[in-house]
Amino acid sequence: MLRAGVVAVQGDVSEHAAAIRNAGAAHDEDVEVVEIRQSGSVPDCDVLLLPGGESTAISRLLAREGIDEEIQTHVNAGKPVLATCAGLIVAASDAQDDRVDTLDILDVTVDRNAFGRQVDSFEAPLDVAGFSAPFPAVFIRAPVIDEVGEEVEVLARWEDDPVAVREGPVVGTAFHPELTNDSRIHDLAFFDEMAVEA
Ligand code: GLN
Repeated sequence: MLRAGVVAVQGDVSEHAAAIRNAGAAHDEDVEVVEIRQSGSVPDCDVLLLPGGESTAISRLLAREGIDEEIQTHVNAGKPVLATCAGLIVAASDAQDDRVDTLDILDVTVDRNAFGRQVDSFEAPLDVAGFSAPFPAVFIRAPVIDEVGEEVEVLARWEDDPVAVREGPVVGTAFHPELTNDSRIHDLAFFDEMAVEA
């Protein structure tokens, strides 16, 4: 039994829960999904998901409830985190925006709404490292990753910009992997050898 915590301030909790269960089923692993709204439940979770939404609102709630430090402790223990879209902004070391108090669990500099200035949302087939077929990536007011630290592996790029990255137990995507039936990103973050070893 894998206990997956989904930070449930806002965003697509049920879609992420379905994707994690689906990925678990492929590994004969039952998944219990816990919605995280207060401190106290993160320490019992094996894996964590930081979904999209509004990064300012998410970071404010995490700080107010003291969930921020619990997530940092989770990562320091080598346990997996998947951070998507606004979640990626919150996870970053630098969001280039004072309104977002980032967790600094992923050594990347992001530009909020960088794609959004040109186009609000789009879907694109992405080549992801290790995937045999492209991943249908849905971008919604997505951030761009401007810089990655030395320890960060780039898993996918869109027009030269990194849009999926991994640093140790933390995987971040600029897109929303929960909005299609394809659960390979959740699989990669939570059930991959790397995640298991970590
Ligand atoms: N651009 C949004 C933010 O800055 C994120 C958008 C999303 O999660 N779809 O928080």
